Amino acid sequence: MKKNKSSVKNKSLTCPGCKGDVYDSNLKRTLGRKVWLWGTVSSLKKEDLIHGNFQWACDSCFESGKALMGNPDVQLYCDFDPNLAYIDLEKTCEKCREVYVFKKEEQKYWYETLRFWIQSKPKHCLKCRQEVREEKQLNNELSILLKEKEKLTIQDMERLSEIYQEINKPDKSKYYKNLVEKAKRKNS
Ligand SMILES: [Zn+2]
Ligand SMILES: [Zn+2]
Repeated sequence: MKKNKSSVKNKSLTCPGCKGDVYDSNLKRTLGRKVWLWGTVSSLKKEDLIHGNFQWACDSCFESGKALMGNPDVQLYCDFDPNLAYIDLEKTCEKCREVYVFKKEEQKYWYETLRFWIQSKPKHCLKCRQEVREEKQLNNELSILLKEKEKLTIQDMERLSEIYQEINKPDKSKYYKNLVEKAKRKNS
């Protein structure tokens, strides 16, 4: 009787962290954990790991520091399984196409401190994310400066020239640089 159940019990799983075969004895920190799933508190079973899309790791990975413990209580998830563990993930940047590592510490911060939805993933590498952010900031500054074009001071125009240079619009940069020079000549 109940042969199916025992075959699942003795079945090994491949740990996403170390890629090794792991049995229940190496899943003590995961199996039996109480997690809020589908509107009720569940005690995690091996079947959940097999059929779900949890991020998890074996005890050895936690002990060696290869994996960080995830805390579903503070994660935002609904129709997606929470992160039981964080391990470094390799991803390809959609902007520069380079492979980068989405580090476990960064993931924990992303999902548990910033509380982004569990299924959201960064599209870009850190370098490109910084570039995108800087570009956004520059564009904001630009629209503020250009709001009252007729009231631009020399410093404003100098700044406009700099910004256009930074966002790769050399013609506009040159235009404001010329205006600055003209204004300075007039003042002297
Ligand atoms: Zn492992
Ligand atoms: Zn990139």
